[in-house]
Amino acid sequence: MKKGIALLGSTGSIGCQTLQVVDQFKDDLEVHALVAGSNVDALSKQILVYHPKVAVLVNQELFPKLVQNVGNSRTKLLTGEEGMLEAVSLSEVDTVVAAISGFVGLKPTLEAIKLGKNIALANKETLVAAGQIVMREAAHQKVNLLPVDSEHSAIFQCMDNKIDLVESIIITASGGPFRGCKKEQLLTVKPETALKHPNWAMGAKITIDSATMVNKGLEVIEAHWLFNMPYENIEVVVHPQSIIHSLVKFRDGSLLAQMGLPDMRLPIQYALTWPTRWNNNWERLDLAKIGQLTFEKPNDASFPALKMAYEVGRIGGTAPCIYNAANEQAVQFFLDKQIGFLEITDLIRYCLDELEIVSDPTLEEIFEVDKIARQKVISKVNSLHN
Ligand code: NDP
Ligand code: MG
Repeated sequence: MKKGIALLGSTGSIGCQTLQVVDQFKDDLEVHALVAGSNVDALSKQILVYHPKVAVLVNQELFPKLVQNVGNSRTKLLTGEEGMLEAVSLSEVDTVVAAISGFVGLKPTLEAIKLGKNIALANKETLVAAGQIVMREAAHQKVNLLPVDSEHSAIFQCMDNKIDLVESIIITASGGPFRGCKKEQLLTVKPETALKHPNWAMGAKITIDSATMVNKGLEVIEAHWLFNMPYENIEVVVHPQSIIHSLVKFRDGSLLAQMGLPDMRLPIQYALTWPTRWNNNWERLDLAKIGQLTFEKPNDASFPALKMAYEVGRIGGTAPCIYNAANEQAVQFFLDKQIGFLEITDLIRYCLDELEIVSDPTLEEIFEVDKIARQKVISKVNSLHN
């Protein structure tokens, strides 16, 4: 029996790499639903290759173009949020790959969990904004929440269900394109430079998050929820080569690390094949060729976002949701050249200082807080420009 997949965010970086994994295992994996945001042409091409039962272009304005492109294929074409929810509900779907970027990924992912689907989770924002609700629902539905994020996949592999024996987890960070930079050097950074990650080719939002270290902050919170790990037992170490994807320290002091080339297809594959491993023909890591693995402490003076994530994680409630929403809006402004690089983190701090934090929020409150935090950033940026 083939494993049935619904792929949320099929036109993105993780989405396209997931399809490369599917290409490797045509006899074992089948895509029944493809979901994209606005990229009509890429989705049209994917429909003609994978012939899913359902394909969704969430952007309703562009939907007629999709119908024009592939309306005569045997795939049912849908649009809007309802379309996305129909895609995850297909009975053929066993696993939903959650690879939409940002907070918008929360709703369909949670819906899929409620329907009892296993989740291959790339969308970390889901756990950052609504970790408690998502984990509670996953436990209730007894679904597997399998990490795609390379660090979390590494921890998951090293931990191997032995959580009781774990002392702490160590998340590695590449340090991004501005590793070693002083704060003053970051004042004039342009999006073009921030979008050049030294080791990974990823979507724009996560690439900027890597440059500010917000990505590592989001990952600390993601790890807290995925592994039920207290924040004092989550460490971060900068490892510029991105070969060790993360480590687990056991209570006898022994460290286990998972290594590999920086290639997201491996963690994606593992999330789809767990608990077993399948052969693939991708390039293998040649340690002698890599030569050196180095480690250093995170630079909190230049990149305060990581410390801030620990702070919001410990506060809990809606604090991580505010951190995430303010960041998403600020990154958008940075990419649109409306604000400078350092203002991204300043705006997150501003929102955290200004907004009231609700403990143990409902899902409705989370959606509300997400909206309010974005609005707060928009008003602040507008006021700076007027
Ligand atoms: P991309 O920006 O490359 O892709 C995002 C995907 O989400 C696209 O398919 C896009 O569709 C879709 N999308 C965006 N907005 C909407 C919407 N409103 N409704 C439906 N679909 C939407 O991002 P990445 O692939 O880089 O990242 C995806 C997620 O995976 C993020 O949460 C990221 O943090 C996480 N992740 C990514 C890694 C990577 O290596 N890329 C590594 C670890 C985690 P379209 O383009 O058609 O508009
Ligand atoms: Mg990661």
